[in-house]
Amino acid sequence: MQILLATRNHGKVRELRALLKGLPFEVIGLEGFPHVSEIEETGNSFSKNARIKASGYALQCGVHTLAEDSGLEVAALGGKPGVHSARYAGKETDHDVKIAKLLSEFEMSRSVDRSARFVSHVALADRTGKILFEAEGICDGTIANEARGENGFGYDPIFIPDGYDQTLGELSDDVKNSISHRAAAIAKIIRYLRDFA
Ligand code: IMP
Repeated sequence: MQILLATRNHGKVRELRALLKGLPFEVIGLEGFPHVSEIEETGNSFSKNARIKASGYALQCGVHTLAEDSGLEVAALGGKPGVHSARYAGKETDHDVKIAKLLSEFEMSRSVDRSARFVSHVALADRTGKILFEAEGICDGTIANEARGENGFGYDPIFIPDGYDQTLGELSDDVKNSISHRAAAIAKIIRYLRDFA
């Protein structure tokens, strides 16, 4: 059976492929479906957006589809950027601009609470768009004073996972894939897929 990864985010694709390695499924990407139109993330929660993307791409492509919606929630900013993480400071801006905005908003909050968490919600749809399974994963940590490291993607250079001194930008891919929000969510879906196979 084939499973389509419903994302064009290269960082996510790399991690999801590594996390799904060894399963008895052929994991395929959206590049095989050039005429597919982008599904808008119109939901106000990670779970709604994951379901919208899984069903929307499954219906267009006629393949079982795994979608993931994720983001960074900063306690001092009331959970922002949250579901808007990819659109924070504008959809097309680089993450160094988003990171600068986040650190500046954090400074302005005058909070001493640097706690934050990454949330990942995954949804699997069958080829008719019906949601078969959903799962969530969380990675708790704190916001660094400044961006550090080149690994990972997105907000990784300013996120220090609990139990570590380095940011996810400094930690290796293997370490990130053993502790990340995405790894936790995918571990749950793998248990489902093993029974499904
Ligand atoms: P989505 O494609 O709407 O789910 O947006 C996800 C966004 O959340 C990414 O573009 C990043 O801004 C942020 N994000 C999610 N997961 C990670 C991660 O593992 N590291 C860093 N940033 C992440």
